[in-house]
Amino acid sequence: MDTQQYGSEQIEESALDKAIRYLQQQKLMTGELLYKEPKHTLSLSNQEHEVLQQIQKTEPILQATDQINTSKSIPPISIHKKFIMPTRKTALFEQSPEWMNAPDLPVLYEQIHTCLNCALGATRTKFVFGVGNPNADIMIIGEAPGADEDAQGEPFVGAAGQLLTKILAAIGIAREEVYIANIIKCRPPGNRRPEKSETEQCEPYLMKQIELVQPKFILAVGLTAANTLLKSENKMADIRGKLIDYHGITMIVTYHPAALLRNPSWKQATWEDVQLLQKLYVESKVV
Ligand code: SF4
Repeated sequence: MDTQQYGSEQIEESALDKAIRYLQQQKLMTGELLYKEPKHTLSLSNQEHEVLQQIQKTEPILQATDQINTSKSIPPISIHKKFIMPTRKTALFEQSPEWMNAPDLPVLYEQIHTCLNCALGATRTKFVFGVGNPNADIMIIGEAPGADEDAQGEPFVGAAGQLLTKILAAIGIAREEVYIANIIKCRPPGNRRPEKSETEQCEPYLMKQIELVQPKFILAVGLTAANTLLKSENKMADIRGKLIDYHGITMIVTYHPAALLRNPSWKQATWEDVQLLQKLYVESKVV
């Protein structure tokens, strides 16, 4: 018997239950099962054996990742410390410092939603602030709003957003449980990648959001989001699946859901990354 945490409930789980839950999660996230039943009919015990083999194939990935993290001196979650927004020399800090003292997210929104500090302000339909639990333990950070987000004023509501919601559901986390935001609050025309000057202008707003939410974990989706936060030029292969210390917050980087829609072969890697997040999240609840 194994145990699984669902909210405050701890449920005893047999190997077969675990196998069924794994396949259900896979189906939720990918729309298909990774395990394909052979043409010939297996007995129940053989089926169970095959399914468990499939599960065992995924578990060493987590162990391998843990080893990588340990060797890089990643601080344990228990030393999570209060995130204080770092200040930088940008027009935002020079022109309207009052938003830096916003006591909560609604006040911050009121202070910044008319921002025109970069060219994207002139072409947006709606300012896309962020959405979700203001006290979330998990913050999901993407790159910038797309067309649907620009129209609705909410991040991750288009096809990619729906996939993100499915991915979260697959690891037992409701969309409302997390806080979701982007580095950039206004849509770049034609969904082009934000320019460095634009991310530099807008990122301090995100920092303030992080300071107000105080998440234990950040899931950075997409390389632009990750490299902007980390001030790096990493490749996805170098940083995904690892625990990264982001000013005392444990960060995991994975593919952007929009990239998964274009490249379904990246779903397995994403699945491993979010399983790692789930593992840490569940563990943080019982510490
Ligand atoms: S993208 Fe950011 S900095 Fe640029 S106008 Fe919008 S809110 Fe302001």
